[in-house]
Amino acid sequence: MRQFSIGNLVIYSFVFLILFAIGSIALLFTDNYSHQQYVEKLNQLQSDNSRLVEKIHNQSEKIDHFVGRMDTIISQDKHIRDLIRMPQIHDDIRKVGVGGNTGGEEESDLNYLLPEGIEFIDFDKFNKKLDFYNRLANLEFMSYREITKTITKDLNRYRSFPAIHPVNFSEAILKSGYGMRRDPFIYKDKFHPGHDFSARRGTHVFATADGIVRESKVYGTFGNYIEIDHGYGYITIYGHLDKRKVRKGEKIIRGQYIGSVGSTGRSTASHLHYEVHHQNEDTNPGDFYFDDYVN
Ligand SMILES: [Zn+2]
Repeated sequence: MRQFSIGNLVIYSFVFLILFAIGSIALLFTDNYSHQQYVEKLNQLQSDNSRLVEKIHNQSEKIDHFVGRMDTIISQDKHIRDLIRMPQIHDDIRKVGVGGNTGGEEESDLNYLLPEGIEFIDFDKFNKKLDFYNRLANLEFMSYREITKTITKDLNRYRSFPAIHPVNFSEAILKSGYGMRRDPFIYKDKFHPGHDFSARRGTHVFATADGIVRESKVYGTFGNYIEIDHGYGYITIYGHLDKRKVRKGEKIIRGQYIGSVGSTGRSTASHLHYEVHHQNEDTNPGDFYFDDYVN
């Protein structure tokens, strides 16, 4: 009996020792294994992060490109508003965009996720920049909608606006502007009430807005002369023409070929003398051109 129970104790102890050993080895192995997995996972995450950072940089460049285009859109907006005498959007409003400053709600400092060797990224600044340009784009969208509404409401009036050059860019040079200049005949300073475009004889001259021909005749120092009434107080004048292609009373549209450049009347060389009158007063034609004239 006694021998048997001692034997039992030895067996129990032995079994326990074996189980403990197996348990320890298993534990050690598992720990080692999960550590290796952890390192792999970490490497994976770090390379993912590098790719994401690179993508963010690319996006940032695209945003800068977009910002450049935005400036063009804004200056175009200002130009149109000037032309159609619409009030300008104040620059302060553009600085904030519409809907106030929404930045700073989320403090998203994600830089702790960046792998080593990757430069600092200001995610907040990045987000705010995006928000800002998003608001600015919205503002411009609304502005252009407002402009379109204003123009379509009064389309006839804008069709009457002498908004283009009377000669083609490639065929003429603006030789004399609006204002004081030395008169080539009397050699004295004299006010020049329009634009002189130097061009070869025969170069086409175009009506700069819709209207009705008020005069088409030989008229003193102007030589071959055309006058167009555009309504709304606008009149344009075309002088020293070689040929006139429209008659008095004729209805014409903007861009229509009305005559050709010459040197009739009091003129030293082939050129077009062009005037824009508003409410019976000469004005600077340069204030009306909406097309770009490149000399
Ligand atoms: Zn002139």
